[in-house]
Amino acid sequence: MRVNGLTLTYKNGVNTVLAKNRTNFQVGDLLCQIFQGQTLYNISDIVRNCIGMCPMRDNTLTQNEIEEAERYILKLLLYDDFFPAQRLAQGSFIRCMEEYRALDSSTASRLLIQEKERAMINDLPFDNIGFSTVGEFLRLCYNNYYIDLISGINLFTATSAVWSGTAIEKEQAHYDELCAALHDSSVVPGIVMQTSYDASTGTFGCSFVISSFLAMAVFEFSHLAESATKIRRCQNPECRKFFTAKRSSAKYCGFPAPQCPGRTCNDYYPQFVYREKVRASELDHLIKNAKGRLYNARRRHPKQVEGIDKQLSDLTIYAPNKKQQVLDGALPMTDFRKWLDSHKLEEEIE
Ligand SMILES: [Zn+2]
Repeated sequence: MRVNGLTLTYKNGVNTVLAKNRTNFQVGDLLCQIFQGQTLYNISDIVRNCIGMCPMRDNTLTQNEIEEAERYILKLLLYDDFFPAQRLAQGSFIRCMEEYRALDSSTASRLLIQEKERAMINDLPFDNIGFSTVGEFLRLCYNNYYIDLISGINLFTATSAVWSGTAIEKEQAHYDELCAALHDSSVVPGIVMQTSYDASTGTFGCSFVISSFLAMAVFEFSHLAESATKIRRCQNPECRKFFTAKRSSAKYCGFPAPQCPGRTCNDYYPQFVYREKVRASELDHLIKNAKGRLYNARRRHPKQVEGIDKQLSDLTIYAPNKKQQVLDGALPMTDFRKWLDSHKLEEEIE
């Protein structure tokens, strides 16, 4: 069976991705980069398009045609935004192909009935699947690739939410459900271990080839569980992405801030919070001054106490809302000042 996938080594909290250049990732970083944002959806769109355009899609399925189709998928899936994600996607798709090509015909036809049922119940991307043509076969593999993809993303999202201590009830329930399902080890595709011998040092080493999104998530979480690095959720309310950090005080992620994509949350958001605080206290100051003027007027004009008190209570009731409108950018500052200034003694109003 051909093994294709993301090849890496793991030591002391660091994953080293083996490719032309070796790249190091702190434990959990690969997960956060692969499973968040658009990357996996872009890749899956490419794979899906590849299947639709496959020139041998109407050919009768043979071992030679499968070989050809595997080369075709590997050649076309040249997504280069993030190499580890591309390798993982290729690995997952080729694994599905290899698992199905190894079946004898009676097992295959039995499985196909189940697969067609599953496609219908779970609303999977394709239902015209089978073992007759290359196209049918690729669509069958895509459905299985898709299930692996969604399982990986689900496990990542639910586990990260729970482990970062930020899970809402629905996420906690989802996590419990997934953990119960993963008790069955056959659910998670295996990871292949490869050994190597380094002649210069005379030592053996081993690397892992990961060809499943779900297995990747389990691999990383098993290391995160025993690591000083913890998973956290960005406190920028418009971001909420997961990231990893050793410091328990880390609040914001290193991904682009939704409010300002040229800057990362950990750079942008603390400044934003500070500026908001300064602006809010400026507005509070203006409200306090407006009230102060009315209190003075009440002392000077005891006969008009009733009217002034009405103005004061109007300020007390509506000022917080007006202030929030200014902070949200819905009310211009000049209008806010005008509104404050309109609260004054009757005869002072011209
Ligand atoms: Zn963030």
